[in-house]
Amino acid sequence: MRLEHLHLLRQIRVEAPLQNLVAFIKKNKKAAVSAAGLLMLVIGCSVYLLGLVDVTVVADGVVTEVRYWGGSVPKALAAAGVTLVPFDETIPAADSDSNANIKLRDGSVLQVLRAVEMTIAADGTTQTIQTVPGTARTILAKAGITIGEYDRVLPDNDQPVPAGTPIRVVRVEIKEVTAQVAVSPPVEERPDPELERGKVQVLEPGKAGVKEQTVRQVFEDGKLKTKEVIAERIMEQPRQRVVKIGTKPPVYTLTTSRGTFRYSQVATMSASAYCPCKICCGPKANGITKSGKKAGYGVVAVDPKVIPLGTQFYIEGYGPAVAADIGSAIKGNRIDLCFETHQEALNFGRRKIQVYILVVN
Ligand SMILES: [Zn+2]
Repeated sequence: MRLEHLHLLRQIRVEAPLQNLVAFIKKNKKAAVSAAGLLMLVIGCSVYLLGLVDVTVVADGVVTEVRYWGGSVPKALAAAGVTLVPFDETIPAADSDSNANIKLRDGSVLQVLRAVEMTIAADGTTQTIQTVPGTARTILAKAGITIGEYDRVLPDNDQPVPAGTPIRVVRVEIKEVTAQVAVSPPVEERPDPELERGKVQVLEPGKAGVKEQTVRQVFEDGKLKTKEVIAERIMEQPRQRVVKIGTKPPVYTLTTSRGTFRYSQVATMSASAYCPCKICCGPKANGITKSGKKAGYGVVAVDPKVIPLGTQFYIEGYGPAVAADIGSAIKGNRIDLCFETHQEALNFGRRKIQVYILVVN
C-alpha cells in the first residue's frame, strides 16, 4: 500500500515534500501511516471531483440536469432515468463499445431521439420500419434502400418526415431509343373548278421519306411517363404529293311539273310576297327593279350579301325565278316574291319555302 501511495505521490511531482515525508516516516511510523492515508483521501477526492460532469439530458420533451462521474452516454441516461428501447438513438450516439461511450464533458447536452414507425413504399412493396425521425433519404438509407440518380423520393425535402407520412420511392429510368421512322410527304393541293366539290384526284402520289429519330423515354416505376424527340436525321427525303381538290359545286336534279332543273343547293327561306304597285313598293315605284329588270312574276328580292343578284332559283309553290331586286326589309334568310297583282301577293302571304339554287350552264 505504502509503495503504491509513494508512486502516486511521485506522479504528481511532489519531490520536495516527499523527502520531508520520508524523514517524517522514519521518525514516526504511526503518524506517517495516518498522514499518508489522509493524503490519499484528499487525492482520491480530487480525482473523483475532477471526473464529475454536469450533463443536460433532453428526452421525451423533458430536460434533466444530471451530475455523474465519467462522461459516458449510458451513465448519463441512467442518471436521468431514461431508458432506450431498440432503434432509439442519442446525439451523441451511444456506442456498443463502452470505452467509446465517454463522449460527454461538463456542460454537454445529450439528446434522446425516440424511434417511430415509418412506412416505405418502393419497388412494388410497402414495408414498415422503426427509426428515429429523419429526412426521407436518411430513413431509406437505414432501410437499405438505395436511390438511383434519377429516382424520385417523396417527400423530397430536407425536413424530417412527419410521423405517419409514408415515404415513397419512384424509380425513374431514362432510355434513349433510336429508330427509323417514316416522314410524311408534303402535299400540294391544287383547287380544281372542273372537279366536283368533295372529290380529290391524285396527280403525283409522292413518297414517304425516312428519318432516324432518337427518342428520350422516361419511365416511372416501369411505366412510360414522357417521351421527347432529342435528335433527328433525315435519311431519305420525302417526295411531294400533288392532288387536285374539287371546288365545283355538286349538281342535283329536280323534276317538277314545270320541268327538270339542275341545282347545287337547296335552302329553306322565309318568303313574303309583293307586286309592283305603290302599296307594295311606295309612291315612287316605277315597276323597275334594282337590276333594271321589269318587276313581275318570276322576279324575287333577296339580301345581296347572302345571295348574289342574278342567281336563278326554282322556288317551291312559285316556280322558276331570278334574284333581281332588293328590299330594305329583305335581310339574311328572307326572300320576297313578286306577283303580277296585289291580290295574288296578298293570297301568298308569308310562308317558309324551299328554294333551289339552280346551276345555269
Ligand atoms: Zn301590290
